[in-house]
Amino acid sequence: MSAAASMPATGAMLRNEPMSRHTSWRVGGPAEIYFRPGTRAELLDFLRDLDPATPVLWVGLGSNLLVRDGGVRGVVIATAKALGESERLDANRVQAGAGVPCTALARRCARWGLGPAEFLAGIPGTVGGALTMNAGAFGGETWDRIASVETVDRAGQVHHRTAADYDIGYRHVQGPEGEWFLSAQFQFEAADGDALDRLKVMLQQRQDSQPLGEPSCGSVFRNPPGDHAARLIETAGLKGHSIGGAVVSDKHANFIINAGDATATDVEALINYVRDTVAATHGVRLVPEVHIVGDVIAESGA
Ligand SMILES: Cc1cc2nc3c(=O)[nH]c(=O)nc-3n(C[C@H](O)[C@H](O)[C@H](O)COP(=O)(O)OP(=O)(O)OC[C@H]3O[C@@H](n4cnc5c(N)ncnc54)[C@H](O)[C@@H]3O)c2cc1C
Repeated sequence: MSAAASMPATGAMLRNEPMSRHTSWRVGGPAEIYFRPGTRAELLDFLRDLDPATPVLWVGLGSNLLVRDGGVRGVVIATAKALGESERLDANRVQAGAGVPCTALARRCARWGLGPAEFLAGIPGTVGGALTMNAGAFGGETWDRIASVETVDRAGQVHHRTAADYDIGYRHVQGPEGEWFLSAQFQFEAADGDALDRLKVMLQQRQDSQPLGEPSCGSVFRNPPGDHAARLIETAGLKGHSIGGAVVSDKHANFIINAGDATATDVEALINYVRDTVAATHGVRLVPEVHIVGDVIAESGA
């Protein structure tokens, strides 16, 4: 891991950094190396110098990520600082770095009178995370608004791509192997009416229906075709069910919250329990929306 050993000029490189500090569930073991580049150039140089054998995980705001308690080997790259700029390119197009928070982008677009971008306010992650997940809210989906994206590969080479290069579906995006998102160009239209007002109404609806004050990753499972994961979980009698410090929310059954002292092991065990119970009760096998990464803690031998 030669490049990881040298200190970046403007960013930060931390060893054994607890990922519980960088995920919205507030659980997760240490990243062997946690790299927060200060600039895009620093990020690209780092990738060019990195030993090709070193595992790499890109992280936005960690709002869809369960990092196991054993932590992450190799390098975690945090995009917020180096890729955190957005600008209006012309009447309808907006360029945003992968590290830009979707909530900030939604507000900027509303102020510029561009829409429909309000749905992005419902996604507490970055543009990079939203591109990876095809994140959506209030009937809007990220890739509906993408004109093009910039990606980078392991060798630090930048590529320009369009939606045609990806297989895109509900919370699903499959693209060229071994590339990560650097930025996206969004195509919007002149907003109809007051977008900021609409955005506030949408956020209030969220507040009323989701346990937003508690650590979670939002919806844990994708909705199966024609149904809602929350309905299936609730009618399987799982609201309030807990394993360790992980609890199925009483407010929204597709949310698992960290009640304070949960471990990633608790959360993953509860995910599996919910999936198995729903399968036994309804005959539907739920598929997790959250990405589960990292190592389990090795059992100490008796
Ligand atoms: C309270 C709450 C409500 C939520 N509501 C919604 C909702 O309404 N709709 C919705 O879709 N989601 C929702 N989410 C989930 C989450 O916010 C989204 O999935 C979001 O897009 C994740 O972005 P992130 O930056 O946090 O990604 P992370 O959690 O950091 O990463 C998610 C995945 O994307 C990858 N990734 C991140 N950045 C890049 C990059 N630049 N290039 C390549 N890969 C990358 C990571 O490696 C990981 O596999 C909610 C979460 C919470 C906590």
